[in-house]
Amino acid sequence: MRTGKGPVYWHAMSPALDLLSRVFGYDSFRGPQQDIIDTVVAGGDALVLMPTGGGKSLCYQLPALLRDGCGVVISPLIALMADQVSALRQLGVRAGCLNSALDPAECAATERALRGGELDLVYIAPERLTQHRMLELLHASRIALFAIDEAHCVSQWGHDFRADYLALDLLHREFPGVPRIALTATADERTRAEIARRLELQSARHFIAGFDRPNIRYRIGLKNNPRQQLLRFLAQEHPTDAGIVYCLSRRKTEETAAALTAEGYRALPYHAGLPPDVRAENQARFLREDGIIMVATIAFGMGIDKPDVRFVAHLDMPKTVEAYYQETGRAGRDGDPADAWMIYGLQDVIKLRQMMAQSEGSEAFVRAEQHRLNAILGLCEITTCRRRALLAYFGEELPQPCGNCDTCLDPPATWDGTEAAQKALSAAYRTGQRFGVNHLVDVLLGNTTDKVVQFDHQYLPTFGAGGELDGNQWRSVFRQLVGMGYLEVDVEGFGALKLKEACRPLLRGEERLALREDPKPVRAARKKATAIPEDVDPVLFEALRECRRELASAQGVPPYMIFHDRSLRDMCSALPRNAAEFAAISGVGASKLEKYADSFLAVIAGHLAGSQETGLVVGTES
Ligand code: ADP
Ligand code: ZN
Repeated sequence: MRTGKGPVYWHAMSPALDLLSRVFGYDSFRGPQQDIIDTVVAGGDALVLMPTGGGKSLCYQLPALLRDGCGVVISPLIALMADQVSALRQLGVRAGCLNSALDPAECAATERALRGGELDLVYIAPERLTQHRMLELLHASRIALFAIDEAHCVSQWGHDFRADYLALDLLHREFPGVPRIALTATADERTRAEIARRLELQSARHFIAGFDRPNIRYRIGLKNNPRQQLLRFLAQEHPTDAGIVYCLSRRKTEETAAALTAEGYRALPYHAGLPPDVRAENQARFLREDGIIMVATIAFGMGIDKPDVRFVAHLDMPKTVEAYYQETGRAGRDGDPADAWMIYGLQDVIKLRQMMAQSEGSEAFVRAEQHRLNAILGLCEITTCRRRALLAYFGEELPQPCGNCDTCLDPPATWDGTEAAQKALSAAYRTGQRFGVNHLVDVLLGNTTDKVVQFDHQYLPTFGAGGELDGNQWRSVFRQLVGMGYLEVDVEGFGALKLKEACRPLLRGEERLALREDPKPVRAARKKATAIPEDVDPVLFEALRECRRELASAQGVPPYMIFHDRSLRDMCSALPRNAAEFAAISGVGASKLEKYADSFLAVIAGHLAGSQETGLVVGTES
């Protein structure tokens, strides 16, 4: 291995920091990484809770390199193992995997390497690990540590439960001297306790990182023309980025993907109704190619480990805050700015309320569902920091408003909607609680429609009593009333709005109601949450991307495995001219320096030569 990176400071570095820089090309640890690594290197057990993108992998990869023997990683997602192994091999780490998807010859070779002490890390599927043969092999090999990834799979309450995980408590008994580290991104305390109990990790140190994803910008807007809104968002902010667009129905994913394709985007549909080979192909393209937009139902996402997803857009509202957080969490794993963008409208509220009303179960269950639905609706209508509300939902307190969500960046106006709400409720009441929002708006506005005449609603005192607002404003009032639980949607009654007990004090004038002023059709963000900041030369960035693309496709790996966007950006601003300067770029370790420095240095040199001719280099006198 090369010893050229920052040699002056080297002697003072801890071995972990030294490896971090030499192998991974990073110059500092994030959050609790260092503590966790020190604990495991010293032989202690650890239970690690970190959000997606927090940097869990390093917490076992580095100790595996620092300790004698091979690190054994237990992971439930066979599909991801190969990717993890290629990423490690790019870094010059000796890695392999053992699972049922591999051919026997490959497995045999990996097993030999493990036994011979020629592996730094091996990924094993849980069902294979607990086989007698495998245990024998492990006993015959030197094991540095066991890492149990996605440790929440031991929880029978969660939806990712894997029976094979339950048997993992044998590790403790079979290999008492080998440290174990369990990792998960699942927040709640009950699951954490269950992990500790089931995996016999009672004496493990717990490391709990906050759940915030500060690089994700949360934005929730009103739905008026979804297709146009999405197109505008993409054109203005993510014209060439990879992202996910979530829709509720299969048909809508296909229609939206087709519409995006017609506009020149590289968009693919994904839902459970597609033939398995099409699904696999679309997913592989999303991972392997740059800038693909996946238009998907919630069937897409589990185990998608793509670091450079720059946006997650929701065209329909998810059912719960948990789902929203998990889906948006797929954006920006690499820590670069990313957008969580959602539009919603009254129809979403009605649809979800109806779905909820149809759900069956005990009274307690229905109450819990109701609570969850109210929470997501509340998040949409909130006029204060969205991140704060999100984190509060998960029991975490954010001391300051975040400054990186739409309500922080563009505080919404509120108005005293008490009187309007009273009129709206009265319109619903006086028409017999049998009509949907459009008819109620007609009544308030005094529109003499056929339906109004048919039911003699032109004689009601509320008829025409709402001239101070227009149709859209009234719809906004109704939406917020449903969202806040003053009105409910009748399931059988085609969206008829009915009064709920909660509106009594409001009608009696004992309560005042602040309503959110709906923003004008979604404005452009003040500052784009794109991965390319203004000071980066887009021509050079594109040239570097192209170089990355070629190197990636020659090896059949995704471009981000060559370098993350952050490294390319670093190259744009540092403009390295030789290997020593290239080594200082984030993400450049010894292995990548050797493999890729020449290609990228040539692109940069070519660019500098070209722009010198035209006088375009920043800082060059014209
Ligand atoms: P998780 O498994 O927690 O979702 P990963 O381990 O995949 O997260 O890490 C997320 C991203 O952050 C990866 O691209 C990784 O290379 C990067 N990363 C992790 N630790 C550091 C660090 N100390 N410095 C810079 N980048 C890091
Ligand atoms: Zn905020």
